[in-house]
Amino acid sequence: MPREIEVKSVLNKTKKRDSWFLDDYTLNLYSSCAFNCLYCYIRGSKYGTNLEESLSVKTNAIEILDRQLYNRAKKNQYGIIVLSSATDPYLQIEDKYLLTRDALKVIAKHRFPVHIITKSDLIERDFDLLHQIDKTALLPTDLTSRLDGGTIVSFSFSTLDNDVAKIFEKGAPTPSKRLTALNKTLDEGFLAGVSLMPLLPFISDTTEHLDLLFSTFEQCNVDYVLPATITLFGNGKADSKVLMLNAIKKHFPELESRYVSYFKDGSGMPDFYKKAFSKKINELCKMHNLNNSIGKSR
Ligand code: SF4
Repeated sequence: MPREIEVKSVLNKTKKRDSWFLDDYTLNLYSSCAFNCLYCYIRGSKYGTNLEESLSVKTNAIEILDRQLYNRAKKNQYGIIVLSSATDPYLQIEDKYLLTRDALKVIAKHRFPVHIITKSDLIERDFDLLHQIDKTALLPTDLTSRLDGGTIVSFSFSTLDNDVAKIFEKGAPTPSKRLTALNKTLDEGFLAGVSLMPLLPFISDTTEHLDLLFSTFEQCNVDYVLPATITLFGNGKADSKVLMLNAIKKHFPELESRYVSYFKDGSGMPDFYKKAFSKKINELCKMHNLNNSIGKSR
């Protein structure tokens, strides 16, 4: 069972809007994340090796959010709220707690735009509220030429292979379910795309898998793709670098020496890899006619 906690603040104003995710605010209604991705940047000693065991529910979040948005709206500080930056807004327990649904009602009331980032098909439950936000939210003036409405939805994938996902994101809905939910989201007419963060070196960034990813998303007619290389941190047993290297050793022993050498001293892939990755992604985006930044393509 998750812990129930009370918080003093729940809406976080970002220092600067990220050019990829367009976040003016972030909102995390749960602390930690039951999807348990091994590569997750929130990993570390704070949450332990099983993120689900440290999951907390911010039970007073809606009341606090209402007050914080009221104050921001009064000062005309409208901006995009990203749900979520350090958990998933549609964890299994959202079915019971309804925090995301209740937060969307409050967000709609104050007319703020949202960017939902998720690995779950549970988002379909909230299409009604997302339509309301899409139609009535007040966009920051510098984004009005780039966005038509107040709702953006990104589904996260590190692979399309359900078996591979089971190793690296074992608590999350399968990529197949996400793909179905992505198609439904696009059918609803929302601005929607995919965050490929991270692609797994030599597993889902192979030419073959990249071709599969890009042709699949072209067929879906997504509005954008946001691909990125992997970053892994720490040498403690709950850290992403250690957990990923253990999983590679167990499930992809032929890749172990490459992973060990790339992550021996640092947290990111070497420069030559990043350059080749970025060149390949640009070529694939052109070839499949896909944007690699958020904006209307249709
Ligand atoms: S879904 Fe996102 S926040 Fe949750 S564990 Fe995975 S990467 Fe981390």
